[in-house]
Amino acid sequence: MSDLGNQSVTSVKGIGAEMGALLAEMNIRSIKDLLEYFPYRYEDYRLRDLAEVKHEEKVTVEGVVHGEPSLMYHGRKKSRLTVRLLVDRYLIKVVFFNQPYLKQKFKVNETVTVTGKWDQHRQTITANEMTVGGYQKEKEFEPVYTVKGKVTVKVIRRLIHNAFVQYGHEIEENLPEEFIHRYKLMDRGEAMKMMHFPLGAEDVKQARRRFVYEEFLLFQLKMQALRKFEREQSLGITLNYQLPKVKTFIEHLPFPLTNAQKRVVNEILADMKTPYRMNRLLQGDVGSGKTVVAGIAMYAAITAGYQGALMVPTEILAEQHVESLTALLSPIGVQCRLLTSSVKGKRRREILAEVSEGTVDILIGTHALIQDEVSFQKLGLVITDEQHRFGVEQRRVLREKGENPDVLFMTATPIPRTLAITVFGEMDVSVIDEMPAGRKTIETYWAKHDMLDRVLGFMDKELAQGRQAYVICPLIEESDKIDVQNAIDVHHTLSVYFGSRYKVGLMHGRLSSAEKDAVMQEFTANEAQVLVSTTVVEVGVNVPNATFMLIYDAERFGLSQLHQLRGRVGRGSEQSYCILLADPKNEVGKERMKIMTETNDGFALSEKDLELRGPGDFFGKKQSGMPEFKVADMVHDYRALETARNDAAILVQSDAFWQSDKYISLRESLKDSGVLSGEKLD
Ligand code: ADP
Ligand code: MG
Repeated sequence: MSDLGNQSVTSVKGIGAEMGALLAEMNIRSIKDLLEYFPYRYEDYRLRDLAEVKHEEKVTVEGVVHGEPSLMYHGRKKSRLTVRLLVDRYLIKVVFFNQPYLKQKFKVNETVTVTGKWDQHRQTITANEMTVGGYQKEKEFEPVYTVKGKVTVKVIRRLIHNAFVQYGHEIEENLPEEFIHRYKLMDRGEAMKMMHFPLGAEDVKQARRRFVYEEFLLFQLKMQALRKFEREQSLGITLNYQLPKVKTFIEHLPFPLTNAQKRVVNEILADMKTPYRMNRLLQGDVGSGKTVVAGIAMYAAITAGYQGALMVPTEILAEQHVESLTALLSPIGVQCRLLTSSVKGKRRREILAEVSEGTVDILIGTHALIQDEVSFQKLGLVITDEQHRFGVEQRRVLREKGENPDVLFMTATPIPRTLAITVFGEMDVSVIDEMPAGRKTIETYWAKHDMLDRVLGFMDKELAQGRQAYVICPLIEESDKIDVQNAIDVHHTLSVYFGSRYKVGLMHGRLSSAEKDAVMQEFTANEAQVLVSTTVVEVGVNVPNATFMLIYDAERFGLSQLHQLRGRVGRGSEQSYCILLADPKNEVGKERMKIMTETNDGFALSEKDLELRGPGDFFGKKQSGMPEFKVADMVHDYRALETARNDAAILVQSDAFWQSDKYISLRESLKDSGVLSGEKLD
């Protein structure tokens, strides 16, 4: 179809300069654009049994007029026409608003066909269309297009029809025969026609199926090709770690690894051994034990004679990682150091010197640690925690410093499988999908705001048993200022409520890092029993004695975020609780609260979140690189996506794909497949 892509849409009959300009505003410039201007839905005129039609669904029925229609006027222009219709065995009402002239078309005992919205309770169709006579099959399905101004649905339909008459035979197949055959796909020309002129639902289904596969295959080819080039061009380091030492280390851990941990450790070690640069994403739910996996990988790099760096988004988290990695690794002589902006003066100079001499094995800190004045003696592995806060820029810096270490991204925000293989299609992904044995599930409850007193009573009881509690503050908007004010207000209220019985700490983003540290210290040491906080505690905080979490205005948070927050409790051996205080205003909100109380599985939640919010919202507004598909839907067509991904992976690895003529059109598509809306992630 490359030619049609270069021919102006004005060559189509009926499209002059003026129409051409209107179409251009709708991004329809070439004949190809017009032919690929697909309907966003279809008007379904199929006859259906009313017993199967749901309330408020649109339906077309054929029936016999039962008695004289009645017409009532309210005011001069408003009217209501009511007709009783016998449809199979049902006697129903059909109502037309403001179409008085239809009255004469309804003759008693004659057959008519009407289309409208079904009100199950009133057994009434609010109709907008009628034809005299029985149902006529040829208009079972009609395409509906996004339109603009003078370019109405009727106009678009006519123009597309003209385009087909003139150019339909020039539409070329772009998928190799083997795929068409294997998946029994419609050929491209036929599928294009069926998108616009289907006779029925089955035509649309088959046409869609073809384009879904095509879109996914082209997209995945692009991703897989990028990945292949990335691998081949990015010569990295071969980390020849000493396996016996690594094994011994694993055997001496205070607990046996879960099977999932073993699997991902193997995947990571295999990457480290190759001469390519590792580019791997490690996903694991909160508490699934990613830190120890990071520790093992770091240790392996050290046994190969290299240093490691661990980057985290916040200082609190950096300190925690230093603590846990030191506990894990210092007994075997590994030197870990913390480097954040709070480490200053002489101490800082000492650490920097140790890093460049190679006496420090692992440096842990915020991302400043790969910039500035830090120079490593021999950096082999960089691990970043919470990958979404560590972007393209940092990776560029690393490369420009001339270091080409293996990179492992860890994230506790489970990315739905669907997104992981699309957005991160050029990365390798490891998943820890199993929790360490013996974890108690956190009991989650949803309470309305007017139950706050009871909730506080519950919290009081937990505190009385020596436990601690988090209170997460209302999130009003993405405004730090207002959120902080909320935290201050809640802190005040709770301080009054608990009086001198318990100490209530306050944490928010406006505190200096020294102040944050002090607050965190106090809570960790159980000098404060309650910690009121904005969402800054979301990432990685570990206080096992905290067993109670109260989240205000829970309906304002995404499911994944709620799950992250909830992961701050349930870290010790005691039963933990999470209370969601929420008065959701709509069904989606209620649904989300219900889901939270029913599942503790971060992956299931992220899939749900994606379903409820859509892919665009999932990562928030800033994320670019989200693919846009014309026909395909990443969530609902997930299976096709997986199939296409496997096919693409096989293709790019084969010589035939890069050489044989039969793949020319696919190779062409790599040049500008147009599916990436923004820049690729890296
Ligand atoms: P996350 O994946 O959220 O970073 P962590 O690495 O902080 O999880 O691990 C959570 C807790 O589980 C830690 O206290 C850690 O020591 C413990 N842990 C990790 N792996 C195991 C295991 N295989 N068996 C038992 N406990 C484990
Ligand atoms: Mg962690």
